[in-house]
Amino acid sequence: MHINAPEPALRARRLGRAHYFPEVTDAEWNDWRWQFRQRITTLEALARHLEIPPEEWQDRAESLRDFRMGITPYYLSLIDKDDPNDPIMRQVVPLAEENLFRAIGEEDPLGEEQFSPVPGITHRYPDRVLMVVSNNCAIYCRYCTRKRTMYEGATPDVELDRMVDYIARTPAVRDVVVSGGDPLNYSNAKLEQILSKLRAIPHLEIIRIGSRVPVALPQRIDDELCAMLAKYHPVWVNVHFNHPRELTPEAALACDRLSRAGIPLNNQAVLLKGVNDSAATIKSLCQGLMRMRIRPYYLYQCDPVRGAEHFRTTIAKGLEIMEGLRGHTSGLAIPTYVVDAPGGGGKVPVAPQYLLHYEREKGRAVLRNFQGNLYEYFEPSQGTDELHPVPPPSGGRLRSSADPKAAAKKPAKRRISGKIGSAPVDENGSINAAANGASNGSDASGEVEPVVGKSRWVHRGPSTRSSVAAQTTNGNGHAKP
Ligand code: SF4
Repeated sequence: MHINAPEPALRARRLGRAHYFPEVTDAEWNDWRWQFRQRITTLEALARHLEIPPEEWQDRAESLRDFRMGITPYYLSLIDKDDPNDPIMRQVVPLAEENLFRAIGEEDPLGEEQFSPVPGITHRYPDRVLMVVSNNCAIYCRYCTRKRTMYEGATPDVELDRMVDYIARTPAVRDVVVSGGDPLNYSNAKLEQILSKLRAIPHLEIIRIGSRVPVALPQRIDDELCAMLAKYHPVWVNVHFNHPRELTPEAALACDRLSRAGIPLNNQAVLLKGVNDSAATIKSLCQGLMRMRIRPYYLYQCDPVRGAEHFRTTIAKGLEIMEGLRGHTSGLAIPTYVVDAPGGGGKVPVAPQYLLHYEREKGRAVLRNFQGNLYEYFEPSQGTDELHPVPPPSGGRLRSSADPKAAAKKPAKRRISGKIGSAPVDENGSINAAANGASNGSDASGEVEPVVGKSRWVHRGPSTRSSVAAQTTNGNGHAKP
């Protein structure tokens, strides 16, 4: 009898604290300073825990010259030792590809230094700035956009007073993102020094902290830290979970402490090939975040940073993932998918197309829902937003006596037969389903063929709309534009 090898999910996985660190006491494990000191920073130390193929040693060692390594014992314990493609491992362990593709990509893909009025500040958007206060992290993510500042021996270019001074003399800045590196690596005293200086600026409304500490070093989020942060409200924290396996009880406890201190939590995930590049993984991540009271905020396209080419996906992959979320889970659990435009263009939201066809002058749109069903929608007419009742399609009680015959010709929404994919904008700036090959339900000209739906309320439209509506209804209950 042939017996298949067990699926990874079914076999006993070699991971967890008991597997990697059986001798470590609870007191040590729960002490964030111990975790920080015990970080794995060399290939030799890593090889004591994970297998490194000898033929890859050289490339992996080379990549550490450009960008240092750091893995907390806690984060290491999340890695499945027997999975050579483990999604947790790929985020923090340098792979040979990092060196093999190091010629591809940019040092500073977002042009942060072009938009830097003083060292450490990036001022790209009108009312907010990024303030880089450290080049030190609990873990070093191999796809990091700011890895240019994190090579071994690099000293942080942190001139706190100059940064604070810039914000103080720039009244347009009402929101600051304190990032790094990771600000929560600092002692409470050092962090409080930064926050108190910022809070003393009258026009600065919001302080946001960007941190991966709740993911990689959750022991750091203790009551003392939370109480200190709460003194400087409104303080928000942007966390950075990429995979559902990072949503551990320890991480949940850390985030719960922050939430209880009145700190709203938003997650910024990065779309990474081989880590989270499927709708099922991102959906599971976002639903898990919701259970932890964290809003899934952004899903970033991985930046074209040097040495991270093996993490990059196509935009089509991102759209496919977003398509797999909308309608399939709560809108609250759906992040905004963004591509950070090269050279400092800023975040550009990218989304699947649900508005397939739009004629502004006729006030008519064709919409696609998450199941691919098409709907014809009429906007309110210019200057008249009155609603007029329509008789039900097959009899039934009329809710009003107002001119039902005329109104029946102009349903506000119609279901359109067939399904359709997303569509680009044509050269005239119109959105047209035909451009993307309407499948079922489109005629030779690419126009979609609507089916009268169940909508009973219509807007009384202008004459152009009336004539369009009058032309559309045919004898079999279908309609065409
Ligand atoms: S924690 Fe953030 S700043 Fe640090 S390496 Fe990871 S992505 Fe970069």
